[in-house]
Amino acid sequence: MTQIGFYYNQSACIGCRACQVACKDRNDITDEVALRWVTSYESGAFPKVGVYHFAAACNHCENPACVANCPTGAMHKAEDGSVLHDDDVCIGCKTCVGSCPYGAPQYSEALDLIMKCDSCKALRDGGQNPVCVDACPMRALQFGELPELEKLGDGNVVATLPCLPDDSMTNPSLRITPRAAALEENFTKVIV
Ligand code: SF4
Ligand code: SF4
Ligand code: SF4
Repeated sequence: MTQIGFYYNQSACIGCRACQVACKDRNDITDEVALRWVTSYESGAFPKVGVYHFAAACNHCENPACVANCPTGAMHKAEDGSVLHDDDVCIGCKTCVGSCPYGAPQYSEALDLIMKCDSCKALRDGGQNPVCVDACPMRALQFGELPELEKLGDGNVVATLPCLPDDSMTNPSLRITPRAAALEENFTKVIV
């Protein structure tokens, strides 16, 4: 099976949230659900402090916990390795919401539906990029086959970023060039 994924150049990200807004627009989301969401952090200690951002989405993991724990098969891996959700098969038990360490599957009260990033599969099938990728003014996001993305990032550093959970179980398909401030152990979320 091939495996698609994202590359995120965190060192280039300015936290503008264009990716988040484009994704919400593409998916007609009007409530608090976000399939891509940007969180800002402050790290270090005075006088050596830093600010960084993290643009998160489903990582289309190689061993997805949401798929393993879904009782109906609604959450599944597609041929290209993306993790997709079948609305027609879902019984709304929310097990996937509790299983994903990254908070990717979310429950929309407005739609009474589990939602998650589908890697903009319909657009990609038409030869286009995911909208979050094209919306980024810093070209900080890329999408493609994992072996190609491996050439861009600093290896699989997901587990070494203190603001992210341990990835040892799910093996997320995400490669990152981290910002130095994001490697500091002490950090707090900030509103910018
Ligand atoms: S809410 Fe739906 S997709 Fe999630 S675990 Fe339950 S049946 Fe599967
Ligand atoms: S790939 Fe599409 S659905 Fe997924 S985060 Fe980007 S814009 Fe949203
Ligand atoms: S659009 Fe690009 S620069 Fe802006 S927050 Fe998203 S990833 Fe960062």
